[in-house]
Amino acid sequence: MSSSFFSRFIDVLAPASCPICGNRLSADERFLCAGCLLQLPFTGFEANPGDNPIAETLRWHFPVEKCASLLSYRPGSAISKLLLSLKFFNHPEYGTELGRIMASEFQSAGFFDGITTLFPLPLTRKRQRQRGYNQSLEICRGISEITGIAITTKGMTRSEGNAPQSSLPHDKRYENVKNVFHLTDPSIFQGQHILIVDDILTTGSTVTACAKEILKAGDVKISIATIGYAGQ
Ligand SMILES: [Zn+2]
Repeated sequence: MSSSFFSRFIDVLAPASCPICGNRLSADERFLCAGCLLQLPFTGFEANPGDNPIAETLRWHFPVEKCASLLSYRPGSAISKLLLSLKFFNHPEYGTELGRIMASEFQSAGFFDGITTLFPLPLTRKRQRQRGYNQSLEICRGISEITGIAITTKGMTRSEGNAPQSSLPHDKRYENVKNVFHLTDPSIFQGQHILIVDDILTTGSTVTACAKEILKAGDVKISIATIGYAGQ
């Protein structure tokens, strides 16, 4: 936490540069330069939140309301480098900035209409301690800043899976995370329309496991939003 405070402090002293191209940002640019912002691979999924590749996948597993990812994710791309920095190189502020971009794009499509609560996908205690922050919570902070929708991190815990998801073939991932989420307080979710927020959606197995656990609360609607979409 202290190092992220320190890096924010440095940003105030030194002019910020675009994390994609490295160019210095002008006074009216924030986080990304105008050129890189224009070239982001937007999916446009938010325009059809009930009819896009994510909705098609997740609908087989649970009754999902709306789904969207902000950007197409390809390994080795500029977006994958940004998301790796967010997750593994102590850049929680990238999450907040990407959350703000997501919120601006999705809000104009009406994606947030009816959603009452933002819920960052929980990490295990061990992972949270190692990383010092939950990248999905940082994304939620950016969304909340723009939309005013409240964030909750309560009501659920996450235990270790048998193996890291990234180490498994796609067809084994649903089984691996099936029982890792534990509903601890149903009242947090009852009567709400929850937007589960995560950084990248690949097979959808992790958000599915989380959604199924929230649905046990009863009287709850669930939507899904991620920054990256790495599906086929
Ligand atoms: Zn740039």
